Amino acid sequence: LPKDEMREYGYKVVDAIVEHFSTQNDKFPVVVGSREEMDHLFLEEAPEKPTDPQEVLDFVLNKVISKSAIVSHPKSYSFVPGPSNYISAMADTLATGFNVFSGGWAASPAAAELEIVTMNWLLKIFGFPVKKGGGIFTSGGSMANLTAIATARRIKCGDDFAKAVIYLSDQAHSSNIKAIRVLGFKKEQIRIIPTDAEFKFSINKLKNAIAKDRLEGLQPFCLVATAGTTNTGTVDPLSSLAKICKTENIWFHIDGAYGGAAILAKDGKALLKGISKADSLTVDPHKWFFQPYEMGCLLVRNSKWLKSTFTEKPEYLRDIEGNESEINFYDHGIQLTRRFRALKFYMSIKTFGLKAFRTAISYNIELAEKVEGILRKSPHWEVISPATLAVINFRFNPIGENYSEKKLDKINQYISEQVVASQEALLVTTLLNGQVVLRMCLINPRTTINDVKETLAQCKTFTNITST
Ligand code: PLP
Repeated sequence: LPKDEMREYGYKVVDAIVEHFSTQNDKFPVVVGSREEMDHLFLEEAPEKPTDPQEVLDFVLNKVISKSAIVSHPKSYSFVPGPSNYISAMADTLATGFNVFSGGWAASPAAAELEIVTMNWLLKIFGFPVKKGGGIFTSGGSMANLTAIATARRIKCGDDFAKAVIYLSDQAHSSNIKAIRVLGFKKEQIRIIPTDAEFKFSINKLKNAIAKDRLEGLQPFCLVATAGTTNTGTVDPLSSLAKICKTENIWFHIDGAYGGAAILAKDGKALLKGISKADSLTVDPHKWFFQPYEMGCLLVRNSKWLKSTFTEKPEYLRDIEGNESEINFYDHGIQLTRRFRALKFYMSIKTFGLKAFRTAISYNIELAEKVEGILRKSPHWEVISPATLAVINFRFNPIGENYSEKKLDKINQYISEQVVASQEALLVTTLLNGQVVLRMCLINPRTTINDVKETLAQCKTFTNITST
């Protein structure tokens, strides 16, 4: 494209993004679109002939973007919202525009250095050793968990993992089981430990399972704890689990993809006590660190663990190996060619300062507690799991009605379906102890108590289904 046309095109893109950031609150967060409708709109053969660039852009802005949910909308309460920020969106645009290769030192020493710098910030925030420790930015929490479990296996078991056993609770995120399966573990090597009444890792059941496995000559090698479960925001008893892992020589991985960022808030920090004792820790900046997709992160106590797990030395990379201090992040994980993820983290933290992040996260934690207060005062709602790290679960269960469990499940499912169908809020259900509950995740700093009150009032309008 000629320079002028590129500029005009780019301005239009930026204008659209700015418009999105300034008007998103007034739109509907939910979109609906069947496969049939989407096929009808978009299905076509790859064109041989060119199309006018403005025409393609207009089509995308009008039809594609408008058919995507607004995950940063104040009433987007599910699943984990994506309250991104403008500076990071622009940083991602820069990283893509310049197509910075963030795999090896030689291609961009500055990109590698910014990954080291931002990683050091995170290591310090989470109380990990900054000098010895290290990590890698990944596409998200799932890839960070996969990277962690692959590393744990390499360090604890070497090549022979036939007798290796891994432990996680029934509230661990599904990405962990996915990772374990992908890594080739058999069903018999996985122990899913039931949680207690507060949805926390049950220590006694864990100890019994480890003892039994040792007796059978198996090798307990890794434990995955969760710091902020997806369902309820619950933090496992990290300090006790750390002790067990130390005594038993088990790798201690913490999945803090959801809740890790809460360490920046005073209350969150207290809840996350023990997080610094992990061998590896997943955090997910595209959740509560307010980064746009895709950005996950794995931190480890010793960066050599990553290097010894992921280093390969093909002949075509021999000229860019560099020296010990020049980190090639392709040696720290699975990806060789990587986008420049550190840039958005760097630019947003530099621009806003950590204090703004602390304030936003504290606000979210307090907002969920306020919502709990409102629900507890109402005769219509029952709190099923208390506000924890900005997650709260509740259901419609009016005092004095004595509905059967089956009917309650039906009503609450219906409420969610109707709210979503109205497109005014994204509020879906989960199952806790077999009950259908409404789960609200309040990590968006733009969500106000009034937004929540409006949504609760809307929910109430859908409660009088009479069929059983
Ligand atoms: N772990 C936890 C606790 C999560 O809540 C999530 C996502 O919600 C993940 C892992 C997966 O992260 P991602 O969706 O970024 O891959």
